[in-house]
Amino acid sequence: MDAAQNLPVAVIGAGPVGLAAAAHLLERGLEPLILEAGTTAGAAIDQWRHIRLFSPWRFNLDAAAVRLLESSGWEAPRPTALPYGGELVDNYLAPLAALPEIASRLQTGARVVAVTRAGMDKTHTRNRDTTPFTVRVEHADGETRDHTVAAVIDASGTWSRRNPLGTSGLPAIGEDTAADRISAPLPDVTGRDRAAFAGRRVLVVGAGHSAANTLTSLADLAREEPETRILWAVRSDSAAKVYGGGDADGLPARGQLGGRVRRLVEAGKIELHTGFGTSSLKSLDSHVTVEAADGRTLDADVVVPCTGFRPDLDILREIRLELDPAVEAPRELGPLIDPEFHSCGTVPPHGARILAHPDKDFYIVGMKSYGRAPTFLLATGYEQVRSVVAALAGDREAADIVQLELPETGVCSTDAGSSCDVPAAATAAGPDAGCCAAPEPVLVGFPTGLSHGRSGGN
Ligand SMILES: Cc1cc2nc3c(=O)[nH]c(=O)nc-3n(C[C@H](O)[C@H](O)[C@H](O)COP(=O)(O)OP(=O)(O)OC[C@H]3O[C@@H](n4cnc5c(N)ncnc54)[C@H](O)[C@@H]3O)c2cc1C
Repeated sequence: MDAAQNLPVAVIGAGPVGLAAAAHLLERGLEPLILEAGTTAGAAIDQWRHIRLFSPWRFNLDAAAVRLLESSGWEAPRPTALPYGGELVDNYLAPLAALPEIASRLQTGARVVAVTRAGMDKTHTRNRDTTPFTVRVEHADGETRDHTVAAVIDASGTWSRRNPLGTSGLPAIGEDTAADRISAPLPDVTGRDRAAFAGRRVLVVGAGHSAANTLTSLADLAREEPETRILWAVRSDSAAKVYGGGDADGLPARGQLGGRVRRLVEAGKIELHTGFGTSSLKSLDSHVTVEAADGRTLDADVVVPCTGFRPDLDILREIRLELDPAVEAPRELGPLIDPEFHSCGTVPPHGARILAHPDKDFYIVGMKSYGRAPTFLLATGYEQVRSVVAALAGDREAADIVQLELPETGVCSTDAGSSCDVPAAATAAGPDAGCCAAPEPVLVGFPTGLSHGRSGGN
């Protein structure tokens, strides 16, 4: 990064990874400009605040953020406790965002709609590396403003872009017009969103952990509101991947959750439809009819899409990116996390080199850096931003030595058919993800440029 430019570094998104990036920038004497679309920091996590994380506090805190917080008298939560999403926001992200050092550099209600090189479109190469970036922002006051920055760290996550219900990667026909019948991906069916689900016919689509969590919560709701009907559509020919191994499962949390779903199906409390690839939705006055490719139909009042997430690449249309063609993660990272082949693998810690794109000083970090793979862990993201910020500060040595204390872990995509045999430490809660975490941490580290293999442990 050309420090002589004396411009800030844009951080897109004030989630845990964006705020961590800001803390690292401050430690390095660089100036963050944090742009958050939501009204508060942690706006995406706030949407799933009722879900418990599967990794304990010790892996959910960034070291630079903690140093900043502790200087103001903040006390860290019990390291082994498993927080709910809401606790992560209330007890960590909100206090962090409120610190004067962060608050003065954080703009909320600031949605980034485009990133480009100032005065250059994607085709221009001459002087590209030394040209600042323009970040276009739609502000909550209705104004659209361009911000000139020296570098960009995109930590905007994937929460705002759920995968469509259609099986081909496209929205099912009629999905857009049926939008008012489709809920958020992880509704709080026994709490905040109860009224929309109580006594209704609810169709859950998908075979990941978010589906399992929603199904069991709906079953809890149905006990109190017996009119509630639970339908469940999965694309594959069985729900075995969600059930896991029951009590004998190598992953106790997955086994428990999956076992409970299986019992609910067997007891007739959940109506399971296998081999159901959604092709169209027809919104009627009283309900929505969901049709499968083979012509079967299901009527529901509400559809819960548990179909995973994908990155918003539209805002990066003018940036030169190098992405894995399948996963949409940085090219070198993609093969290491592709859920079709790595249902449960330890991703080597990686930093600036692996996350770099042809446009110098531009990085995608955090959940978004994993593209369509559902296996991201916060601890990985914190190490990403430590390395990226070191690289931006010109400290190549620190950027290249990537170390990570992680639970000896892989996170399984149950949609991809988890086959992990590492015992889990905690309750699975992720979106289409189960945690294959062993209780003891493992410290791994190597220069990022060399890290193509799987790290030891899994
Ligand atoms: C239900 C669930 C459970 C999970 N459990 C765990 C767990 O136990 N352990 C673990 O390590 N990981 C877990 N994860 C995975 C991951 O750690 C989280 O998704 C985490 O929130 C990712 O952090 P992030 O900062 O990358 O993105 P986010 O938390 O999604 O933050 C992105 C921020 O960017 C903002 N934003 C989006 N678009 C724009 C834009 N265009 N302009 C400006 N701002 C924008 C959003 O409003 C948001 O505040 C879980 C994920 C989910 C969904």
